[in-house]
Amino acid sequence: MSLGAAELLERIRALDLPEKVRIMNVCGGHERSITQAGLRNALPPAIELIPGPGCPVCVCPEEDVYQAIQLAMNEDLTLATFGDMLRVPVNVRKTEIRSLEQAKAAGADVVPVASPQEIVALARANPDRRVVFFAAGFETTTAPVAAMMAQGVPDNLLLLLSGRLTWPAVSMLLNSGEVGFDALIAPGHVGTVMGPEEWEFVVEDHNVPAAIAGFDSDSLLAAIYSVLRQLQSGKPALDNCYTRVVQSGGNPTARRFLSQVMEVTDATWRGIGTIPASGFSLRDVYAAHDARKLLPDYGDDARRRVGEMPAGCDCAQVVLGRIYPDQCRIFGAACTPRTPVGPCMVSDEGACRIWWSSGKRT
Ligand code: SF4
Repeated sequence: MSLGAAELLERIRALDLPEKVRIMNVCGGHERSITQAGLRNALPPAIELIPGPGCPVCVCPEEDVYQAIQLAMNEDLTLATFGDMLRVPVNVRKTEIRSLEQAKAAGADVVPVASPQEIVALARANPDRRVVFFAAGFETTTAPVAAMMAQGVPDNLLLLLSGRLTWPAVSMLLNSGEVGFDALIAPGHVGTVMGPEEWEFVVEDHNVPAAIAGFDSDSLLAAIYSVLRQLQSGKPALDNCYTRVVQSGGNPTARRFLSQVMEVTDATWRGIGTIPASGFSLRDVYAAHDARKLLPDYGDDARRRVGEMPAGCDCAQVVLGRIYPDQCRIFGAACTPRTPVGPCMVSDEGACRIWWSSGKRT
C-alpha cells in the first residue's frame, strides 16, 4: 500500500539527515507541483529541492528561435508552434523582431497550436500554402510529433524540429566534475515514454540515488523519501515511485515511432552548449518535410549564439541548477512574466515563471 503525503512527511522528518542534501528535479511539471504544494517549506531545512534542466522551451537554442522568426518574416509560409514558444526572446544584435509574438504583431503568419493534430488540420485546410511546424520539446512532446509524421502528413507540412532527450543533460551534469546535487528525482512523464531503464546510469555509473516520480505530492514525497533512504544506506538503486504509469520498457509504440522517424544527434542547448546525442533530427526518408533542408538557413556564425542569454539574464545558471530563480539579478525586477527577459520566465515549464506564479517576487 502506498503512503500518503502526511505519513511520508513524518517519515522524512524522522530521518537523521546530514547538514545539507541537494535533490535535483529535471521536469517543469515536478517543479510546478513542488512549488505549488509548498513542499520546500514542509520539508526539513536540510533538504534543498533544486530545479534543473526541465524546461524544453528554455533550452531551445537561440538560433532555432531566430530561424523560426526569420522564416515567418521573410518566407511565404505559415509558422505554427506551441503557444509557449511565441514569447521566447532572442538576443541577436541588429534584430528588431525578437520573438515570434513580435513577428506576428509585425504581420507575419504565426499561429499558436496545441497539438500535432491541429497542425495537420491547418496544413490540410491550406493545401497551397507551406505550413512549418516549429516543434521544440522533450521526449513526451517529440513522440507525438514522430507519430504524426509516421502516420502521414500533407505535402505542404514541413517540420522545424528542435526535440531534445532529457537524460543526456543529466549525464552531462554528472560528468562535469561540478555535480551540484546529491540525488535525482527523474521525470515520470519521460519514463512513461522511454522506460525507467534510461535512468539506471545515474546510480550505476555515478552512485547517485535516483527515483522516478509522478506529479502529485504523494509520488514526489515518496521519491524524496526513497532517495534520502538510498543516501543513508549508501546503496543507491533506481526506484520507480510512479509504477501506476511508468512501466519497464516505456511505451513501445511511441518508441517505435521515434526511432522510425528520427535519429539521435548531437544538439545544442541554450545556456548549456552542445550535448552529445541529446537531440532528434528527421531521418532522410522524411527529407521532403524537413524545413532545415528545404528552406533558407538564416543563421550565420555571428548569429549562432546558442550558449548566450540576454544581458543580465541568469537563465543558464538556473537551468543548470546552480542558482535558484530568485537569485537571478533581475528576477521580479526587469524580468517578470509580462516583461520576460529570459526564456525561463516565459514557459509554464520554466522555473522562474513557476516561482513567480506561486507568489515569489524577489
Ligand atoms: Fe532568466 Fe528572467 Fe529567470 Fe533571470 S529571472 S533567470 S532573466 S528568466
